[in-house]
Amino acid sequence: MQIASVIVDVPTKQTDRAFDYFIPEQWRGVIQPGMRVIIPFGPRNIQGFVIGLKAESELKKLREIIAPMDLEPVLNKELLELGNWLTESTLCFKIFAFQVMLPAALKAKYEKKVKLAIGAAVADLPKPLHAFFENDVLLDWEDALKSGIVPLLQKEAANGHLEVIYMVKERVKKKQQKYIRPAVTLAELSEEIDRIPVKAEKQRQVLRYFTENFNEVKLKKLVTDVNTSASTVKALVEKKLLVEFEMEVYRNPFEHRTFERTKPLPLTEAQQTAIGPILNALEQNQHEVFLLYGVTGSGKTEIYLQSIQEVIEKGKEAIVLVPEIALTPQMVNRFKGRFGDLVAVLHSGLSAGEKYDEWRKIQRKEVKVAVGARSAIFAPFENIGIMIIDEEHETSYKQEEMPRYHARDVAIERAINHNCPVVLGSATPSLESFARAQKKVYQLLTLPNRMNKQSLPSVEIIDMREELREGNRSMFSRKLFEMLKDRIEKRQQSVLFLNKRGHSSFVMCRDCGYVVNCPNCDISLTYHRVNEQMKCHYCGYESSVPKHCPECNSEYIRYFGTGTQKVEEELGKILPEARVIRMDVDTTGRKGSHERLLTDFKDGKADILLGTQMIAKGLDFPSITLVGVLSADTMLHLPDFRASEKTFQLLTQVSGRAGRHQLPGEVIIQTYTPEHYSIELAGHQDYDLFYQREMMIRKTHHYPPFYYLSLITVSHEQLFTVVSATEKIVSYVRSHVSNEAVVLGPAASPIPRINNRYRYQCLIKYKREPNIIKTLKTILDQYQKDTKSGLQVSIDVNPYILM
Ligand code: ADP
Ligand code: ZN
Ligand code: ZN
Repeated sequence: MQIASVIVDVPTKQTDRAFDYFIPEQWRGVIQPGMRVIIPFGPRNIQGFVIGLKAESELKKLREIIAPMDLEPVLNKELLELGNWLTESTLCFKIFAFQVMLPAALKAKYEKKVKLAIGAAVADLPKPLHAFFENDVLLDWEDALKSGIVPLLQKEAANGHLEVIYMVKERVKKKQQKYIRPAVTLAELSEEIDRIPVKAEKQRQVLRYFTENFNEVKLKKLVTDVNTSASTVKALVEKKLLVEFEMEVYRNPFEHRTFERTKPLPLTEAQQTAIGPILNALEQNQHEVFLLYGVTGSGKTEIYLQSIQEVIEKGKEAIVLVPEIALTPQMVNRFKGRFGDLVAVLHSGLSAGEKYDEWRKIQRKEVKVAVGARSAIFAPFENIGIMIIDEEHETSYKQEEMPRYHARDVAIERAINHNCPVVLGSATPSLESFARAQKKVYQLLTLPNRMNKQSLPSVEIIDMREELREGNRSMFSRKLFEMLKDRIEKRQQSVLFLNKRGHSSFVMCRDCGYVVNCPNCDISLTYHRVNEQMKCHYCGYESSVPKHCPECNSEYIRYFGTGTQKVEEELGKILPEARVIRMDVDTTGRKGSHERLLTDFKDGKADILLGTQMIAKGLDFPSITLVGVLSADTMLHLPDFRASEKTFQLLTQVSGRAGRHQLPGEVIIQTYTPEHYSIELAGHQDYDLFYQREMMIRKTHHYPPFYYLSLITVSHEQLFTVVSATEKIVSYVRSHVSNEAVVLGPAASPIPRINNRYRYQCLIKYKREPNIIKTLKTILDQYQKDTKSGLQVSIDVNPYILM
């Protein structure tokens, strides 16, 4: 096996296939499928993934692999195959499918360097360059830029005196630490102590330390414990009494936290009924998908924990997915509390190094449970016993860039390979999953009641139009204001929730209604109070707020709507005695701040927690008795067929935060459209009725779960080019699908322009189209090959964002 098939790290159509490389003698038997290697590609050295080995190649002249980047494969056989499946089902480049399965630390980084060309000497270069290339050094491109010598370098490169090379760098190093251990037996060590001169008392002390703890110890710890210096230790190493060695240590993000260990709780009758079929599937090593449908606080997590317990006892492993924003310390506590060091946690709050170390623990089989956000579904376990997706309706399980995969699909694909169950849990299942459960594709498990028979909070819907008519211009209805005041007097806590999706803080002229838009993207700019700036969230365009309206010259142009800061200001005016903690992207940007703010609130350091989506999940504090939703409808009017579903889910989710413990909870939902069924039914927490209403609408309009969708988005700087290309695509699709399919377009995308590129789309709705993937792939191939036209075509199979 002297030939390796390699997927190279160049994401283009032309390079989206395996390339053959010759394995030099020294690496034969070392290089294996699933390893990363450094390979020459064109004029550069780049990274690649070995996907297979073979004895022969059709090609005569092969280039050689330069070096392996791993000592052991980073992708096992199952994951390599999963990569192929991802490529096929999401229409992405192979390299993306492999990269997405690995922690960011293992993605290649390239360093550009300049060196003397072979046969050239420093003397050949002009004087100003001599200092840079003496002693055969490689010049960092960054340094070259800083020194302003790039034009000179270019000239010399053209002369053939210099050349540019690319070096593959590892992003994160394993963290190594120095350890010391005895080099002789305990008896010998004791003897040696007496041979050491009395003057060297410190050396004697160090040896005595080892006779008392005959074990390895970190050099740092040894030095402090014995109160000595590294040089004393070194002297003993030189005498061959001790050995110094390096060992990999894990960066431990939870180093300063202790987890109170918990024991399995005796299950309620409802829980026993629900867990039965899961345990049964575990017992039989049977693949099955369960939908665990139960309101917040009904005991789903306990079922997850006890199913995992069973899996661990069988010697297998478990993956648990939790949405990023719900991956709170409280959630982590529950898993660490039950399974301690057997749990690895993967989430975006960790540094790249920490994430890499958690991943290594999984790879080395040092843990049994991986808890994490979306990408944790690729945890490199080899003997998976169960996969659990909590809050399965969350759209963040869909990745919005290549590969555009849904974690639920990946879980099911892996579970089939491992013959194990998948458990999807939610209080408000996605319509897709609930419909599948109705059709018995998934098995439905229900937990109808909250633990301790706590009733659900009472929800009141307030019509804000009515408030306005009666002269209340505040963002707080009279009722909400009264109740907030009441809670402060009773020393109980409230949560105020502001839906920031939607256009919550744009700049508008009060006289003529002119809204300041991004000149590149045709969407409103978001107002930021810091420096009075307006920013575009798609392209990053910034500008200051105009003093006068560009349309009518009025002075009354200012920001409109309610950001969290604005609410905080108004709270300060109407309830000056209230202590408020604000949680949004601005206050939680720093590492650990999210956790700190929640702890402060838990410790009673504030009366009101005010925030965006991020507080809708996971929050479970005994003293919250009031939840207020400031404007329920901002999300209803997005150009998205799931807007009602999302609104219902969010309102139900938020309401579930109140009254989870002894004190009863109340919820106030403020809205301008109280008659909308998603708001009304969220008020009654009536999922079943919502499901029926929404299914009717989906059926009428040919939406999922009745139809599948695929979205083709085309963009170009010229409007005409986009439209005519989209037209061609639409007619190609029409001629390749059955009559049952609906092909919409060409239509301008809901965001018609991003970063100066016009965007058009074609939306396909279909039921059974065995050839659809092939058809879509043909379109992609066609346009990805043609890079000169500047057209960009992207395809999202089962899209969650239709913008
Ligand atoms: P969910 O995941 O559905 O929101 P949890 O599993 O968090 O529900 O359960 C809600 C609360 O009830 C938690 O405080 C949990 O510890 C408790 N609980 C769950 N199951 C039991 C049980 N069998 N006996 C006693 N308490 C339980
Ligand atoms: Zn105006
Ligand atoms: Zn923009």
